[in-house]
Amino acid sequence: MKVLVVNAGSSSIKYQVVDMTDESVLAVGLVDRVGIPGSTLEHKPLGKDAVVIKKDLPDHTAGMELVLEVLVNPEYGVVKDMDEIGAAGHRVVHGGESFADSVVIDDAVAKVIRECFDIAPLHNPPNLMGIEACQKLMPNVKHVAVFDTAFHQTMEPQNYMYALPYEAYEKYRIRRYGFHGTSHFYVSHRAAELLGKPYEECKIITLHLGNGASMAAIKNGKVVETSMGFTPLEGLVMGTRSGDIDPAIVFFLMEKLGMDSAEANNYFNKKSGMLGLSGVSNDLRDVEEAAKAGNARAQIALKVYYNAIQGYIGNYFAKLNGCDCLVFTAGVGENGISMRENICANLEALGIKMDVEKNKVRGKEVDVAADDSKVRIFVIPTNEELVIARDTYRLTK
Ligand code: AMP
Repeated sequence: MKVLVVNAGSSSIKYQVVDMTDESVLAVGLVDRVGIPGSTLEHKPLGKDAVVIKKDLPDHTAGMELVLEVLVNPEYGVVKDMDEIGAAGHRVVHGGESFADSVVIDDAVAKVIRECFDIAPLHNPPNLMGIEACQKLMPNVKHVAVFDTAFHQTMEPQNYMYALPYEAYEKYRIRRYGFHGTSHFYVSHRAAELLGKPYEECKIITLHLGNGASMAAIKNGKVVETSMGFTPLEGLVMGTRSGDIDPAIVFFLMEKLGMDSAEANNYFNKKSGMLGLSGVSNDLRDVEEAAKAGNARAQIALKVYYNAIQGYIGNYFAKLNGCDCLVFTAGVGENGISMRENICANLEALGIKMDVEKNKVRGKEVDVAADDSKVRIFVIPTNEELVIARDTYRLTK
């Protein structure tokens, strides 16, 4: 069976076709600038040259129509007709408290995705647009929703409740949800395989360090805690997000700068983090380069970044009562050699000791811990699309 994996954002649609007989990826593609003049589709079929198509696409349905046309194209398509695609799996960011696993989408599921618009206003509406466009164009197959929040639903109240008046939770469902769940799920399972231990017996700390970044503490197959919270703003310092701050700063700055809530949202989500602190860029490569060239703000920004991560490593060590391995993944985690080295520096007291020579790798699955390190340090490239394809297959085969 072949599965179409869809990740629809506000102005983009990423897709893959995965053949579940051997999990090979037959095609990957990206539709960009959906609803904005100058839309493009970039399609890369397995073993063939990439194709770029320029065509204005006013909405997600038009974008998906073009994707399906491309998939069956006799020259660069990857299936003879759409009947070869047995199911479609969709990334959905927020499933609230309703889903601890992926699910076949029906009207009730769509209703919950819609109910979460309020708490995921940037992600769930385009996710649902992508689903509805696909359902219209592929009415004969099942569609599966794979939620970023689902893996974290094993957290217990002491790990997900905020110390706010209880009605904030009862009325508005304000609690820690956590995100990047599909990535934490994938790399933690791979880590257990590399440890050679049953997943249910492992203590794992996963570090998903991309432009957005989060960590998770996983014990006996369950997420104990994760660093993102009610929204992806909480936790680590990110490309443009502040991560943890004193919440009083929000209302202080709203008053001083005359910001309304939308402007404040933008300030802490889009203008802060490494970009705001360094004044250089949200891209860690640029910040590192500037720091090397002597830029003092960039140097401080990097230290603040490491400091936040080390704080969470200590926190999660305590909550797991020890740890078998750290797992680095996503853009920075997979490729940032000096970033990983600095994060793991001075953690010997926790039994974390890196082999700096082994650490000189990018984008490969490898153990970079010193032989005598008590804690393994894995670099594991994430593969959220494969998790979506596997879940879709499991629920529809
Ligand atoms: P992602 O969101 O997972 O695609 O990660 C993107 C981020 O990875 C970029 O913004 C960069 O900051 C970071 N990145 C990619 N390559 C490197 C590298 N070699 N060193 C440090 N950071 C990197």
